[in-house]
Amino acid sequence: MTKVTRFAPSPTGTLHIGGVRTALFNFVYSKQQKGKFLIRIEDTDAERSTREFEDNILKGLADMGIIPDEPPVRQSERADLYQQAITTIIDSGNAYFCNCSKERLEEMRSAQQANGAKPQYDGRCRNLNLTHSDQTVLRLKTPQEGEIIFHDLVRGEVVFQNSELDDLILVRSDGAPTYHLCNVIDDHDQGVTTVIRGEDHLSNTPRQIHIQQALGFPSLEYAHLPMVLGQDKKRLSKRNAVTSLQDYFDQGYLQSSMINMLARLGWSKGDKEIFYLTDLITDFRIQEVQKAGAIFDPAKLDWINTNHLAALSFKDFTLQLLPFLLDNGIDVAAKENSNEIIEAMRTSKPTLAGIALDLKPYFFDIDAYNEKAVQKFLIGSKSSLEYIQRKLQGLEVWDERSIDEALASAQAALNLPTPKVNQPIRIAMTGSTNSPSLGLTLCLFGKEESNLRISNAIKYIEEISN
Ligand code: GLU
Repeated sequence: MTKVTRFAPSPTGTLHIGGVRTALFNFVYSKQQKGKFLIRIEDTDAERSTREFEDNILKGLADMGIIPDEPPVRQSERADLYQQAITTIIDSGNAYFCNCSKERLEEMRSAQQANGAKPQYDGRCRNLNLTHSDQTVLRLKTPQEGEIIFHDLVRGEVVFQNSELDDLILVRSDGAPTYHLCNVIDDHDQGVTTVIRGEDHLSNTPRQIHIQQALGFPSLEYAHLPMVLGQDKKRLSKRNAVTSLQDYFDQGYLQSSMINMLARLGWSKGDKEIFYLTDLITDFRIQEVQKAGAIFDPAKLDWINTNHLAALSFKDFTLQLLPFLLDNGIDVAAKENSNEIIEAMRTSKPTLAGIALDLKPYFFDIDAYNEKAVQKFLIGSKSSLEYIQRKLQGLEVWDERSIDEALASAQAALNLPTPKVNQPIRIAMTGSTNSPSLGLTLCLFGKEESNLRISNAIKYIEEISN
């Protein structure tokens, strides 16, 4: 049977890392099974759902290359379908109208809680054969005995006692079908075979299976994925991590790095850490997903991004970097050797935004020296800088080797440790201690510009010493 999976976000917030992971696992599973992947917007909660959130979710998925095989559907546009199913379920005798008032339900709950019992609807209207009115809700006649057993691809056999489940509301008094009902009807209507979703939906599953059974729908395959946790082992939230996918793209994490990182949230394959989508489609096994919560580690994402950036051809790397250069006002055409500069700096930071920022001193004059670097290395280095400047000016050939040799002989003559010689020059050139090898850095700037920047640093030392 062709496997059909779906991602069913509620558009009540922007696309969250945990949500993208769920979408990715659904997508990969369907591709692997040569099946179909669908997207359904679960916007039954009209107050909290917005089109902006929906657009953000769909755009984020598209940016990740998670493209559905059919256009997404929206629950708010499927009222007729739900109405038909409501008629079916009423006719089947598996549901009943209930006119219990809010007050009565509240009293009932408080009494149950006072007795230490789980608050549950007590079934008062179950056998009253009430007819529909604008005061009634429709409830499912949930079997009172027995159990629901289903096989979860991640968690194995899962059992729920029916006595733990009450008669849940299927249709509100205003005629609106509830979330659970729509979810079940849609999965059936869309031909979904496999529900892959977060573990937070595990307890919904027996309820939804009861609805399926009441409607005579075939059962589905389930996989409940472990929650994504922050470093503090609490559920990933804005409090313990950056959760919005767009924020990661804005920092210059590659799409392929995000896929790699998300795939590793709850799944692994031996020691292999670097994965691309094609590897996942070959290697991913839903049955291998772990049950325990998956911790999202930003340092690991940096490491993954560094690897994915390194694997790009120079052309692809610059293409990815371009928007970040533009954000920083860097015009690569302004310098003859911009390609060399970019190549030299391409591993300077784990993100494209960080690399672009590091490139700024190569394209613009330094507007401020890094305060810590000044304190640690620049202050007190005037005479050595002057000495090195003279040495460098004496060079006839301005290449990496000659520069390195001049620096080594200056260091020997000055009898200073390497950082005392190199760091002040780095700061003079780039404003901070962050640059590739010094010979290469000076080479990239050229003799004249290097001389000028060292003079500027000397002037700056004089100014702050006065
Ligand atoms: N709409 C639900 C959510 O956003 C997902 C429901 C499901 O996957 O069955 O959490």
